[in-house]
Amino acid sequence: MFRELARSQRTEARLGELLTAHGSVRTPAFVAVATRASVKAVEADALAAVGLEILISNAYHLHLRPGEDTVAALGGLHGFSGWRGPTMTDSGGFQVFSLGAGKEHGVGKVASIFPGDESAAPRVDGPRLVRLSEHGAWFRSVVDGSEHTFTPESVVTIERKLGADIILPLDECTSPLHDHAYTQAAMARTHRWAARALAAFRLLADDPTFPNPHQELFGILQGGAFEDLRRESTRVIGEMGFDGFAIGGSLGRSKDDMRRVLDWTVPGLPADKARHLLGIGEIEDLFAAVARGVDTFDCAAPTRMARNGSVFLRGAPRHRIHLRNAAYRLDDRPIDPDCDCPTCASASRAYLQHLCRTGELAYYRMATLHNLRFLTRLLDDIREAVAADRLADLAAAWGFRL
Ligand SMILES: [Zn+2]
Repeated sequence: MFRELARSQRTEARLGELLTAHGSVRTPAFVAVATRASVKAVEADALAAVGLEILISNAYHLHLRPGEDTVAALGGLHGFSGWRGPTMTDSGGFQVFSLGAGKEHGVGKVASIFPGDESAAPRVDGPRLVRLSEHGAWFRSVVDGSEHTFTPESVVTIERKLGADIILPLDECTSPLHDHAYTQAAMARTHRWAARALAAFRLLADDPTFPNPHQELFGILQGGAFEDLRRESTRVIGEMGFDGFAIGGSLGRSKDDMRRVLDWTVPGLPADKARHLLGIGEIEDLFAAVARGVDTFDCAAPTRMARNGSVFLRGAPRHRIHLRNAAYRLDDRPIDPDCDCPTCASASRAYLQHLCRTGELAYYRMATLHNLRFLTRLLDDIREAVAADRLADLAAAWGFRL
């Protein structure tokens, strides 16, 4: 359930609260990516300690390993992982896409949105072979070569067994290189799948054998970067009776395209339900999305960047520094003297560079904790700015426009 607490007079930005069976989330909020029920390198307690309130895992990956029945037998994602707070699961539509159409076009979703972004590493964790039909998606496991079929109904069942608080239906992601006709056909199929997922979800709603009886199903908007399709998807999905919404698929080829897609979609959605933006997490994008009424967003880039040596520092070029840079070899300062994360309390840039260069395991945890803490503090500031209706001022202070 979503509760709007305040709304900007100057933008679509709003302050809110996402209420789930496992606690509430203050929005706008960053959702940390825990693909396989783990934020890479960091355990659940430490995530809460740096201020994270909600995680998103992936039904596709957890279906392949360890399997939803195993997770269900251990109490669902919450009992299994030890993370007691709110959770989401993505369906795996993006993974099915990423080496289906994405591979066919030689692009991933993020790569094509922000060319040249170092965080846009090609995704290689999806299935090697995919066939899509009206029934669903057939693919071969990258783990053991076994064959799997995802249908809108089977994915809901998998997600019921995983037990996240918010679940997303199977959708077909299109590439930014798909034309209008293909994107329209994929969107229409996603809409038909959405209706099937909703029916399956309602059918399974009262089954006490699932670990979390209080799940919500969000609908996913598609339509690529085409205005007519995005508006149609907003109307169709918006009227279906979902508990909230996620904006998925290709957001075009530039940051301005993303702004336009949000302008075409968010204002048309029911105001009393939450809006999640899938796979976006650059600082500039957070400001732009919040200003357009997005409540939550997830992105694997901040944690992946950390593992690659790139850590956030306000005021540095693009607000980040690269720890492998020779300039930090004898730098005894923390990454950010103003940061209150455990890494900045104890470690110098020089030491982190050494850990990073030598591949010491502690490095991954330390760098990840810093980047996550940076984001939770940024979101604290963003919420404060929305409450005071001064988001544009905060964005300008960071060097961005809304
Ligand atoms: Zn720090």
